[in-house]
Amino acid sequence: MNQIIEEINLANQAIRKKYKYDTLYMQIAEAVADMSVDQKHKVGAVIVKDGILAEGWNGAPAGFPNQTRDDDNKTHPWIIHAEQNALAKCARKGIACEGATIFVTLAPCRDCARIIIQSGIAEVVYRDSFEKDKEGLRMLEKAGIIVEHYARKPYAG
Ligand SMILES: [Zn+2]
Repeated sequence: MNQIIEEINLANQAIRKKYKYDTLYMQIAEAVADMSVDQKHKVGAVIVKDGILAEGWNGAPAGFPNQTRDDDNKTHPWIIHAEQNALAKCARKGIACEGATIFVTLAPCRDCARIIIQSGIAEVVYRDSFEKDKEGLRMLEKAGIIVEHYARKPYAG
């Protein structure tokens, strides 16, 4: 009996620890999202494996003017999504994403899902659902990636 209680306590500790770190990295992803100049959608992504590997937000690629929309408020076709931006940063620096977790403030679209799958990311933690395109999440799950909806809840621990 004592052993069962001990195992339950250890499991609870692990859950509390995971929630604590999920909260930390989601808060960082939220701060990263604030870097976006887009007035409608600010999205942040943080790739984590034993600490932060890279971060990214939605915006213009290097060398393009730092704006996301044209005069008609339409998104420029060259805008890069937060997840792609973070993964590209890893590619540029030669950092492997194999087995890493990506924290995103918005569920990945299908374009990002494809690249997340191919990059070796093992887990996706997202905050907001992407109502317009749920195919991204379906693709991630189909590929065997752990997909978790981060729900902000009072943390007691
Ligand atoms: Zn995307």
